[in-house]
Amino acid sequence: MPHVITQSCCSDGSCVYACPVNCIHPTPDEPGFATAEMLYIDPVACVDCGACVSACPVGAISPDSKLEPAQLPFVELNASFYPARDGKLPPTSKLAPVPEAPVVHRRPGGPLRVAIVGSGPAAMYAADELLTQDGVRVNVFEKLPTPYGLVRAGVAPDHQATKRVTRLFDRIAARPEFTFYLNTEVGAHLSHGELLEHHHAVLYAVGAPDDRRLDVDGIGLPGTATATEVVAWYNGHPEFAGLPVDLSGERVVIVGNGNVALDVARILTTDPDALARTDIADHALAALRSSAVREVVVAARRGPAASAFTLPELIGLTAACDVVLDPADHDRVQADLAGVDAARDPLTRAKLEVLAKLGSSDAPSTRPRIRLAYQLTPHRVLGDSRAEAVAFTVTGSDERVEIDAGLVLTSIGYHGKPIRGLPFDPGAGVVPNRGGRVVDDEDAPVPGSYVAGWIKRGPTGFIGTNKSCAAETVHNLVADYNDGRLPDPVHGTSALHRFVRARQPDLIDAAGWKAIDDDEVARGCGVRPRDKFTSVTEMVGVATNVPAPPMRQRVFAALRR
Ligand code: NAP
Repeated sequence: MPHVITQSCCSDGSCVYACPVNCIHPTPDEPGFATAEMLYIDPVACVDCGACVSACPVGAISPDSKLEPAQLPFVELNASFYPARDGKLPPTSKLAPVPEAPVVHRRPGGPLRVAIVGSGPAAMYAADELLTQDGVRVNVFEKLPTPYGLVRAGVAPDHQATKRVTRLFDRIAARPEFTFYLNTEVGAHLSHGELLEHHHAVLYAVGAPDDRRLDVDGIGLPGTATATEVVAWYNGHPEFAGLPVDLSGERVVIVGNGNVALDVARILTTDPDALARTDIADHALAALRSSAVREVVVAARRGPAASAFTLPELIGLTAACDVVLDPADHDRVQADLAGVDAARDPLTRAKLEVLAKLGSSDAPSTRPRIRLAYQLTPHRVLGDSRAEAVAFTVTGSDERVEIDAGLVLTSIGYHGKPIRGLPFDPGAGVVPNRGGRVVDDEDAPVPGSYVAGWIKRGPTGFIGTNKSCAAETVHNLVADYNDGRLPDPVHGTSALHRFVRARQPDLIDAAGWKAIDDDEVARGCGVRPRDKFTSVTEMVGVATNVPAPPMRQRVFAALRR
């Protein structure tokens, strides 16, 4: 009864370190880790101890006997990562290497104080890594009233298992050396320089909040938007709650076929009664209930073998939705299958095999469906006062194809935004860095400044990819501190809270966030995991109505700071 890793794998590698026989690969120190679509359990070496199940923060691992029918393809997918060995144990079955903790050399003047900007996965994994040591304080600054970044505002509402990683983040945030400064924007309420006056280092984990813009005529017409805006809309991000998402047309076209495009296509075609059991924003659920959409076309400029979505997401999509291909795209899948070597590229082969089994768009459909379309390079969005269609060229030819659409979404990747006071690489959309140390034009480190996550490496990978990314930055930060390159801050530990409160009277702390969290869960009435607030004013109201903690607790909190 070997264990099996399934779709919601976040790749943070916790299972690798928990496994006593090193049967989960690639491990964070193996070459394929950064680009792997998920981690895989070797069915021959697995001893069924279940240690990985407890370690996994997103509940992605089960014994093969307990899988849902839709998860059965993951049995073969896990096994296919390992070469056939006629039942012999692989040579890698030894204890997995445990990463070194970043040992902090304590100073007499007080703890190492680190400000982390952003509160998504990279920020929380960085805090976790820093707090493996005594003598460290972490203050997390987040511009929204709620923490956890894309886990709250990016992960699709029907992927609740993935959102379970917030339980790990809650445990990290509950440590006494950790403080939340929510509803507090670095760059608006306080500056980088001011943060450095209160901390030894500032670590930016602000993600890549913008999207890459498609530069063709007609983008920007009413009826066009980006998939990332729609993701933020259905997830109740306060800045996107009012996005005009017009679902009155029968077809939506999404340009690009990464996992974000699949998420949006799935949400637009899923039965709203099923979504009503998730934490989707109320306004989005209401819009989906009156939606006229019958088909979402996910248009890729390249062929099936180059699909940007991952195999686990494709397997999940085809289990949940009606997914079809045009006959010409079925031919392309067959042509690609003929050219892919199963031994050298088993994952692409497996992806193509799933695509080959999809139904044809010629067949009538009884429910809203998703059509995956290939070789379509976007040329322009057509329409006078609003989007009516997208004109494509068939990639590599002069042939034109027009697809009618009531809504046109681009899903061609995220892009980082400059951070005031730090260098920026506008092409890559990242802050230039060496292993997370921010560097200037001459490659010299910018004192006290660090990055982790998408603003460090660009918008790639999964939630857990940020664990090793953040760990690398933290190791370099601690090395700089130990080598005396991070001087003690001007202000003492107790000054920060007063300073931030003076700049942002509506700052929300951990107690305020707990009040928001409790209220949202209560509003879900046990039917939904939570019913999200989408207005900052409302959230500030809930957070500030929290009764002050008893005097004893306040004194202890002030002493800790
Ligand atoms: P992505 O995976 O980078 O996909 C971008 C898509 O846009 C590709 O199909 C790309 O095509 C296309 N594209 C780029 N420029 C284009 C242009 N000028 N014209 C037409 N098409 C263009 O980006 P993403 O979907 O935003 O995902 C970002 C990251 O988040 C990925 O690592 C993804 O796996 C991760 N993510 C994961 C999940 C999950 O695990 N459930 C969910 C969401 C996001 P080419 O390939 O031809 O360049």
